[in-house]
Amino acid sequence: MPLAESLLQWATISIHGCAKMQEPSPSTKSIQQSSPPDMVTGIRYRYRSIRTPRARAILRIQHEAARAIRQFLDEAGFVELLAPIIGPVTDPGIRGAAAVPIKFNGEVFTLMTSMILYKQMVMATLPRIYSFSPCVRLEPTASRGTGRHLAEFYQVDLEVARASCEQVMDVGDALLVQVLQAVRKECEPQLELLGRTLPLFSGSFPRVTFAEVVEMLRDEGIVLDSRRELPWKAEQILSQRFETPFWITEYPTGSRGFYYLTDPERPSLLRSFDFILPEGYGEIASGGEREHTLKGVIGKMHRTREKPAKYKWYIDMLREGIPPSAGFGIGLERLTRYLCGVPHIWECSPFPKVPGVI
Ligand code: ASP
Ligand code: MG
Repeated sequence: MPLAESLLQWATISIHGCAKMQEPSPSTKSIQQSSPPDMVTGIRYRYRSIRTPRARAILRIQHEAARAIRQFLDEAGFVELLAPIIGPVTDPGIRGAAAVPIKFNGEVFTLMTSMILYKQMVMATLPRIYSFSPCVRLEPTASRGTGRHLAEFYQVDLEVARASCEQVMDVGDALLVQVLQAVRKECEPQLELLGRTLPLFSGSFPRVTFAEVVEMLRDEGIVLDSRRELPWKAEQILSQRFETPFWITEYPTGSRGFYYLTDPERPSLLRSFDFILPEGYGEIASGGEREHTLKGVIGKMHRTREKPAKYKWYIDMLREGIPPSAGFGIGLERLTRYLCGVPHIWECSPFPKVPGVI
């Protein structure tokens, strides 16, 4: 049997002997563009799929993005903080996903769904922080097909004391521009292998309000409940419509976690936003200004049916007082997916856990 036929897909071979170096002829392309592997097989045999040039290119781009993020934030005076992995409470605003409880010292703790409450804790001591924080969210199986849900992912979480939404959205604009520039510059062969042409943006990205988005979608025949989060489908349509990344601001009160501040002038709106990528890649970040007074948080907890008693340390902390702050969390694998132009996010995690894929 010829050697090539006897090999398993993704096998590694070693060749011994002497090689004569030849200049590649101008007609030979040194890099072949790769196509995405099948998800179920790629995850089942991850130890094989991870050794392909395609997987290597994606992981290399992810590394470059992480490096550029750290460089940008360090230069902007942020301090990197080690993120919590478990805690007595975590972020409840996770859109239908479930948190994972674990036993610790006879108590029920959970794995972090996001470190939002802990970011607020640090504001009194370090006013500009970021973390590469691990998050676990057991998403509904239906999210398997969205291409952008992982049950385990990393979030670049940042928080700035006494900042406004506008100020942290400015940080997000400049951060994304710098990451795109760095990846274009440092990862040319990897982008070529993936067949990805990354756009070059400068300046700031459009900011549209949630109410404007509801209008835009109505024009396309999609009628939404204007008091709730955007459904995935609507978000994807918008993402396909825009040619640049963009922000959706002013989410309606009641649509999100209790930690977002209600606009003091317009109580039906939250000082909260999402950052959406173009080309159908969808949301990469959520954030906003924080509800940081005891009264504000307790009022919202009642409305979102959260029990204040469960959040004991958080409530105690608010009673003693914390600075107001604003921030957001960027999904690192979602960002990688966009940078690499790959159809499903599973390829952007070295050890992917996709809802509904065993
Ligand atoms: N906690 C938010 C999330 O994970 C991010 C933030 O508000 O900082 O979506
Ligand atoms: Mg979000």
